[in-house]
Amino acid sequence: MRAALLALSLCVCSVSAQAQRPAKPYTVTRLADGVYLFSAYFYSSLFIVTSGGVIATDPISPKVAGLYLQAIESLTDKPVRYVIYSHDHTDHIAGGAVFASTAQFIAQENARVNILARGNPAIVTPQITFKDRYELKLGGKEVRLLYFGENHSNSNIAIYLPAEKILMMVDMVYPGSVPFRDLPGTDIRKYLDTLRRLREVDFKILLYGHGPPGAKQWVDRYIAYFDDLIAEARKLRQEMSYEEMVEEHQGSADVRELFDLYVERVAERAVEALRPKYGRWGGYDEWAVMNARRIVLFLIMDG
Ligand SMILES: [Zn+2]
Repeated sequence: MRAALLALSLCVCSVSAQAQRPAKPYTVTRLADGVYLFSAYFYSSLFIVTSGGVIATDPISPKVAGLYLQAIESLTDKPVRYVIYSHDHTDHIAGGAVFASTAQFIAQENARVNILARGNPAIVTPQITFKDRYELKLGGKEVRLLYFGENHSNSNIAIYLPAEKILMMVDMVYPGSVPFRDLPGTDIRKYLDTLRRLREVDFKILLYGHGPPGAKQWVDRYIAYFDDLIAEARKLRQEMSYEEMVEEHQGSADVRELFDLYVERVAERAVEALRPKYGRWGGYDEWAVMNARRIVLFLIMDG
């Protein structure tokens, strides 16, 4: 009986496995002649197939890099000649080993310093580094690497294809959504400076390392969102001061709790004030208040 049940269940399993053969765990989107976006597990990377070989960007993780190489090999038999790191954060670059036998790795010079300091053996150390600008030409394609200063990290660059008007800059602007949580690791002032520099670049398609292509317009929308958030938080801070709040709660609460309460109140009111304009953006209910808290702290310390 037991054996029969087991056989039956095995049989059912194999039928259902056949019926629901899992879809490929990645997608490849063609953006222009020879230019593709590879996406898997909420991460994405640009790659360019040329007659002289392939230029890849972020190798993501060891697991995803295997799929990435598979995707590239399904389109060309040319080797990957270059891997460009968008920035130094481990979650975007830990899978480089699969490309190491054929490719040279390129990154902004601070990325190399950060990678060496971390000492993570999975991460291939970039051999080619630059400070502000690097031009890469291969098989008739041109890629410009532009560093505008510190922003999301101190090594985050724009990977720019001038002929195709495509630009990849990771973890800066999420088309359709509010910014990520409290913008961890980000220097707010320099981040805003970089958004303004980014607006000056002539491109149409924005890639950001975590989803489908977006429109350049989202750079302008982010600048407006932060301008509004800062203006609103400034106004609210004039209306309710931290000192008044301490006086109100004299002796009845811990100073740390009072400080948090103050930041929270300003942040929540700013988010409610901006809801009519931005409330439809993805993640507004979850992350806008985290964005706002970060902006309130920024104004307290650096305003
Ligand atoms: Zn990052």
